[in-house]
Amino acid sequence: MLRCRLLGHRFRFYGAGDTMRWRCGRGCGVEGAKRYPSAEDACHYAQAFDREDREDLGRRAPLVGLFPLRVLRALRMRRQKREAERVA
Ligand SMILES: [Zn+2]
Repeated sequence: MLRCRLLGHRFRFYGAGDTMRWRCGRGCGVEGAKRYPSAEDACHYAQAFDREDREDLGRRAPLVGLFPLRVLRALRMRRQKREAERVA
């Protein structure tokens, strides 16, 4: 999936017995599992990873959101430069 290649997988973690499982929330089919000594551990780590991944997503989102603004500014600067050359 192109979005996963560009933005990285959007993993969701969850505990299933003594196993922590994760799967890409965009449905690209990437998944995995890791066993822990107890169901409590698996659940604990699943929650911790899930939270971390969402915070990471929040850090990346502003960069993506700023992109159109940067393009707009670049276009405007180019136009100003052209006008300045015409006046000179
Ligand atoms: Zn994915």
